[in-house]
Amino acid sequence: MAVPIEQLQNLLQKHSRSMTRPRAKVFEALQSGEPLTIQELILRCSPDIDRASVYRTVQLFERLGIVQRVQIGWKYRLELSSDFQLHHHHMHCVRCGAIIALPEDTLLEKRLHELASAQGFESQDHTIEVRGLCPACQNSPAIQS
Ligand SMILES: [Zn+2]
Ligand SMILES: [Zn+2]
Repeated sequence: MAVPIEQLQNLLQKHSRSMTRPRAKVFEALQSGEPLTIQELILRCSPDIDRASVYRTVQLFERLGIVQRVQIGWKYRLELSSDFQLHHHHMHCVRCGAIIALPEDTLLEKRLHELASAQGFESQDHTIEVRGLCPACQNSPAIQS
């Protein structure tokens, strides 16, 4: 895989857009790997980049397929698309809300494609969310909220 920031630059160029400070910053913030809510993303970009620029950049990134939405429960978070990071799944802790990446598993991927194509379906992408308790929450007594 090419250096991600160069890859971003190439893609922007291909769409006749240039690398700007907000674009570089939003991209960098998303490179931490964990999916972020738009609020978290704004926080990570502040005070350099204002809220409106973050929204505009995310819109553009979504249109160009740089960023994708991950549906976690009834909310969505943003992460770099599989062009910019390795395909993976997520685990969602239902108690503290942590989102943890589940490493890619070739056999699982292959099996999913097989199951879909057995139904005559040409699969392009999928998301898997594993819900449960993270290690920290398993070891702490339940908090009544
Ligand atoms: Zn937890
Ligand atoms: Zn997968």
